[in-house]
Amino acid sequence: MNSYLDIDHVSITFPTDKGPLNVLKDVHLKVAQGEFVSLIGHSGCGKSTVLNIVAGLLSATEGGVVLEGKEVTEPGPDRAVVFQHHSLMPWLTVYDNVKLAVDRVFRKTKTKQERHEWTLHNLELVHMGHALDRRPDEISGGMKQRVGIARALSMQPKVLLMDEPFGALDSLTRTHMQDSLMEIQANLNNTVIMITHDVDEAVLLSDRIVMMSNGPSATVGEILNIDLPRPRDRLELAEDPTYNHYRAEVVKFLHERHTKPEAPKKTEGGNADKPKLRLAG
Ligand code: ADP
Ligand code: MG
Repeated sequence: MNSYLDIDHVSITFPTDKGPLNVLKDVHLKVAQGEFVSLIGHSGCGKSTVLNIVAGLLSATEGGVVLEGKEVTEPGPDRAVVFQHHSLMPWLTVYDNVKLAVDRVFRKTKTKQERHEWTLHNLELVHMGHALDRRPDEISGGMKQRVGIARALSMQPKVLLMDEPFGALDSLTRTHMQDSLMEIQANLNNTVIMITHDVDEAVLLSDRIVMMSNGPSATVGEILNIDLPRPRDRLELAEDPTYNHYRAEVVKFLHERHTKPEAPKKTEGGNADKPKLRLAG
């Protein structure tokens, strides 16, 4: 596979009051250019930690991340992040929030007029061209996420990193956002890593779903290739046996991990290992 982004045997251990906590162990994942990968797994297993390491906000204790042949050592505009809760500047308008990022990235390579047009273009892409002068507290949660996505896209990142981007939205808004994201993805062919809790969202949007094992020492559990043609239509897929098979696979993985986390195997005729109760010793 053409490995555009390589998460190369990443482990991370945090110092805590109770001693070192090994959150990720040997996480290994290669992502191709233009691929849409979802990360799914139980709360607290380490999904955001993976994303933050790719973003350069955290450094791995072992292993590392290589993007287009270059090791990631710090945050950069080639890896734009969209968080669950928007991180817009409350005192800036919708337009200025995006323009700020555009100016930062393209100050030397685009003229003033080009930066203006590029800002508008990205806001139109997420259907926010009608609200340029509003401030974040004057628009809905879904609209704020749209602006956050426009801002991320406007930087033309090599990789778009999304941490439960629609997790705080009501289900109707979430549906619209997923459709918009699929449309944008079809046009721009971004490389995306998205964390989600939503099984349908993962199957609908992804080329691959990476299912993480439970922590501590979480790692890649299983990887599911979602071989469904695009464009994808949620209503048609609801009746599609292949879609429902993928869906069931993810639900099964999560359910098994949920009901039997870290369950020790019984040894014959003797004592089973004690279950691990403490996260770190
Ligand atoms: P997820 O996104 O899957 O819900 P996180 O990546 O946020 O999980 O966290 C995974 C684990 O790592 C949690 O147990 C969390 O408490 C721990 N953790 C995350 N960041 C730190 C940190 N800076 N120091 C100590 N523990 C951390
Ligand atoms: Mg998280």
